[in-house]
Amino acid sequence: MFYDVIIIGAGPGGIFSAYELTQKKPELKIAVFEAGYPLEKRHCPIDGVKIKSCINCKTCSIMKGFGGAGAFSDGKYNITNDFGGTLYEHIGRKTALDLMHYVDDINVSHGGEGTRMYSTSGTAIKKTCLQNKLKLLDASVRHLGTDINYVVLGNIYNELKDKVDFYFHTPIDRIEVLEDGGYRVSYHGTTKKAAVTHLAPENGPDTPTEAEEEFETADCRSCIISVGRSGSKWMEDICSQMHIPTKSNRVDIGVRVELPALIFQDLTDQVYESKIVYRTEKFEDNVRTFCMNPNGIVVNENTNGIVTVNGHSFEDPEKKTENTNFALLVAKHFSEPFHDSNGYGESIARLSNMLGGGVIVQRFGDLVRGRRSTPQRIKEGLVTPTLNATPGDLSLVLPKRILDGIIEMIYALDKIAPGTANDDTLLYGVEVKFYNMEVQLDENLETKYKGLYIIGDGSGVTHSLSHASASGVYVARRIAGMV
Ligand SMILES: Cc1cc2nc3c(=O)[nH]c(=O)nc-3n(C[C@H](O)[C@H](O)[C@H](O)COP(=O)(O)OP(=O)(O)OC[C@H]3O[C@@H](n4cnc5c(N)ncnc54)[C@H](O)[C@@H]3O)c2cc1C
Repeated sequence: MFYDVIIIGAGPGGIFSAYELTQKKPELKIAVFEAGYPLEKRHCPIDGVKIKSCINCKTCSIMKGFGGAGAFSDGKYNITNDFGGTLYEHIGRKTALDLMHYVDDINVSHGGEGTRMYSTSGTAIKKTCLQNKLKLLDASVRHLGTDINYVVLGNIYNELKDKVDFYFHTPIDRIEVLEDGGYRVSYHGTTKKAAVTHLAPENGPDTPTEAEEEFETADCRSCIISVGRSGSKWMEDICSQMHIPTKSNRVDIGVRVELPALIFQDLTDQVYESKIVYRTEKFEDNVRTFCMNPNGIVVNENTNGIVTVNGHSFEDPEKKTENTNFALLVAKHFSEPFHDSNGYGESIARLSNMLGGGVIVQRFGDLVRGRRSTPQRIKEGLVTPTLNATPGDLSLVLPKRILDGIIEMIYALDKIAPGTANDDTLLYGVEVKFYNMEVQLDENLETKYKGLYIIGDGSGVTHSLSHASASGVYVARRIAGMV
């Protein structure tokens, strides 16, 4: 099997590499290998009735499959160099922004028509934030919503499926450098495209069926690795085997805040997703808002078997709730001799799983009074939780420094959105944002091996849909000889 380009991972990075290559060099033979299922076969078994919490499926349909980790996300597409990654450090600020706009146009023309683009520039909120020691970061954001995001992905897949060979449920195991240039990827116990596309079980046993044809390796001239967060451990192994230098020292830890949507409505109506940074008085740490979901729901997220919290919201008016949720995160950077920042974040998340059997929820009023929340206190509160979490005490889970920063920020936000610090505001913990280690790449996002590119969140360079997608287009253009 020989391909001109093999792409590993069908998240936004991989998808937009494939898309751009088919546009600019339709004659190239391209394969995409993806550990998860096709889009329509991705189903998380949690139904809130029979299965209430994560059962650790072997292939997590939330994180893996066509569309990657963002497939069921809120689809907030942020066009900015201020957050979401450091792609601009490699390819330049203007190119990065141009590519993010280019991808936005593709999303809009594939089902995103009619979705709204918000912008922070020239808003009155910016001034109000500054007057209250808060900084509102600059961005334009298109809110696709979980439902439209899914439609867009489906349309892009339909356009690609006859031009690109997709191998689903086929995690790549190894990458070898071939003597005459190029790469060999290998995988075991896996299956061929056509069979898997039609036969992949929804969440059933991960065993091959009779109709599947086994094959073990494929060779290519150029290889694009785009394995995202779920592939972070594999990426680390590959870098270590191939002696590709990496560095890692950051993890973001915090909580998800849920409150009546009315409290944040002034902000969310104007800018939808406001990224606000606060510098704490006590420790001079930065606390920031992250992933704001107006009228949304709070959800579980499973990372390597550890249950953490996240949020969604929908464009469909029928799916909207009366609550808004967003994360408050504190970035922890570690210095020598400690290297395992993700391990630190995992340990804190494990602690909440140990105490609460999953995610813990606490009323802000209970937290500041130093007592746990109980099912009764949550029930009596004015905010109805959208996630079935265990009432508990987050001060037994989060380090004091992080918890103090979060409490300070809630009081600061209360000044621009009065009611944020109400007793009944709910805090879910923990939310952890893991960062992949950063791979050493040049200005082409190419490793020290010619033709081996690492893009998207798996490279540590991006942390968002927009930056990951833009990195995919950029590398595709490099390969097509256009940059
Ligand atoms: C619940 C949730 C909500 C989010 N909401 C937003 C949002 O609103 N806005 C935003 O900007 N970002 C959001 N994000 C982050 C965003 O989804 C990611 O930044 C983005 O998906 C990264 O794209 P990627 O292609 O680099 O990686 P991913 O999307 O993670 O895709 C990587 C793919 O590679 C596959 N893979 C991994 N290892 C292998 C292997 N060895 N072989 C083959 N395939 C492999 C995986 O199965 C996966 O499908 C959200 C994330 C989550 C989890």
